[in-house]
Amino acid sequence: AKAEGRNGFQCYTRDMGLQALQRVELQSALRLAVEHDQFELHYQPQVAPESGRIVAVEALLRWRHPVLGNVSPDRFIPLAEETGLIAPIGRWVLRSAGRQLQAWHAAGHTRLVMAVNLSARQFITQDIPQLVRETLELCGLPPQALELELTETALMHNAESVHATLSTLKAIGVLLALDDFGTGYSSLNHLRRFPIDTIKIDKSFTAEIATSDDTAAIVRAIVEMAGSLGVEIVAEGVEHEQQLRLLAALHCHRVQGYHIGRPMPAAELAPLLGVPDEP
Ligand code: C2E
Ligand code: CA
Ligand code: CA
Ligand code: CA
Repeated sequence: AKAEGRNGFQCYTRDMGLQALQRVELQSALRLAVEHDQFELHYQPQVAPESGRIVAVEALLRWRHPVLGNVSPDRFIPLAEETGLIAPIGRWVLRSAGRQLQAWHAAGHTRLVMAVNLSARQFITQDIPQLVRETLELCGLPPQALELELTETALMHNAESVHATLSTLKAIGVLLALDDFGTGYSSLNHLRRFPIDTIKIDKSFTAEIATSDDTAAIVRAIVEMAGSLGVEIVAEGVEHEQQLRLLAALHCHRVQGYHIGRPMPAAELAPLLGVPDEP
């Protein structure tokens, strides 16, 4: 809380100092996290509403530090971006997710798709297409098994080189998803300019779909638009049965959220994958 009066300034600077200290501490801890094996991927199911089958999973990064405990990605991903550490972390994420998908494909879930988050900074500092090619080859995966989730921030920065990168990724054959759709400044513009396969409707829309007629109308319009563009729709943040029913009625392709399944370790997700696909 904001302190008042004569001591206000003091309190303020002390808080700032504390924050800066935590940042520095967090930053040096983050530097060691890959080597010290402190990262883990959790997987959250994306389900086709009609069949109830898991058609894709989103890989979500978890950092367990021995002293700091579990640090939320919302805290350490921005820090990793600022410091450039996102490059080695991103490489670890893609490879680990690739190896896990390879195992699930080998177990007969050959149509399962793995969605991996990429952050804005990775597009500038890393040769993403090369990294993707290496991962697919290393894991013997077909390109359409991998879906890369991008945010609008990633597309905004350096639009020209990003466009070239996305075209290369498209040529490789991986799927491109636009994350947090509807929250940015120019979602529609991005949809028009970039070769997007999938739209992820932001969870702030899902949260209101059952309680606000306006939000429901917007979601319906997004789904219809996606249909005419030949783009798949994923709704994220599904927390209630009512939301699920509405999204199913709109023929949303995939639903994701706590109501369907939380992000979980691979061993917990495996039994939920159901019977293997027909060969
Ligand atoms: P995101 O990509 O938008 O991921 C969705 C977030 O919503 C995840 O938080 C997920 O656990 C959470 N979530 C899932 N279902 C529900 C629900 O029903 N209700 C609510 N309220 N939340 C739900 P998480 O795992 O804490 O990740 C936060 C953000 O960190 C992600 O947002 C993504 O931007 C970033 N992130 C996570 N893993 C990675 C990664 O490997 N690489 C990069 N670059 N970013 C990552
Ligand atoms: Ca995501
Ligand atoms: Ca999202
Ligand atoms: Ca987000």
